[in-house]
Amino acid sequence: MKYIVCYSGGHSSAIVAVEAVRRYGRENVILLNHDICSRVEDVDIKRVKREVADFLKVPITPANMPGWEEKDQFDIAFEARYLSGWGVPGGAICTTRLKTEPFRRWLAENFPASKDNPCREAVVLYGFDPKEVNRMRRRAAIMREQGYFVDFPLLWENRTIHEIEEIGIKRPSTYALYNHANCKGCLKAGAMHWYVVYCMEPEIFEKAKATERILGRTIIKGKPLGLLEVEKYEPMKRAGVTPAEMDSPQTFWARVRSQLAEYEAAMPCECTE
Ligand code: SF4
Repeated sequence: MKYIVCYSGGHSSAIVAVEAVRRYGRENVILLNHDICSRVEDVDIKRVKREVADFLKVPITPANMPGWEEKDQFDIAFEARYLSGWGVPGGAICTTRLKTEPFRRWLAENFPASKDNPCREAVVLYGFDPKEVNRMRRRAAIMREQGYFVDFPLLWENRTIHEIEEIGIKRPSTYALYNHANCKGCLKAGAMHWYVVYCMEPEIFEKAKATERILGRTIIKGKPLGLLEVEKYEPMKRAGVTPAEMDSPQTFWARVRSQLAEYEAAMPCECTE
């Protein structure tokens, strides 16, 4: 039996890799990765992928989209003439091209299966958090339809590791800004993520604005990034709102409101007489 870790370079997938090797042995574990263009996948995420794989002595198995080195999520959207942010069945086109299609192709080539003839030689391991019950159910159902069994090692009772620092490897530095290891400028992300991108990654922000203009769709429901920039992000930056996805959106936006109010109150009166 082989255990295929969906290995993204995020903290959870690194923990899953360690748990899987400790439980099943390195010869039975596959670290399957979809590499992403270095403009939008941080260099430090790539470091963590390498360091954990080296520590475990398991090679990274690539399952990449052709042209992944050059094409980011916006190039993919341009090419497809389709920007799927919100409310589009099937999800973001970038996930399909960069992850889903290469994953299915790799599985079909290496562990062919179907609903009526399920794969008995491999289990796919996901790093979903114990709180993500709905995502787990959905994922298990999708994979079952395709003939694959799944497991979620972060639910295991006898866990041997909780923080990747326990094996002397630092988690990606991007967690200081973002609450996940996804692409910078994620097409599925909300306004809090895009504020961080606006402040920290101006080139990505401009490319996202251009993508919206050309394709005539918005990434965030009903709000073009250009409008958010003028109405929200510029004033937030002026008022000194820290760009980071550390809080829940509710807490973050409550803090933004209070910081903006304080900033406005501290402004000098603009009367001339
Ligand atoms: S992380 Fe976001 S931008 Fe990257 S492929 Fe997934 S949905 Fe697209």
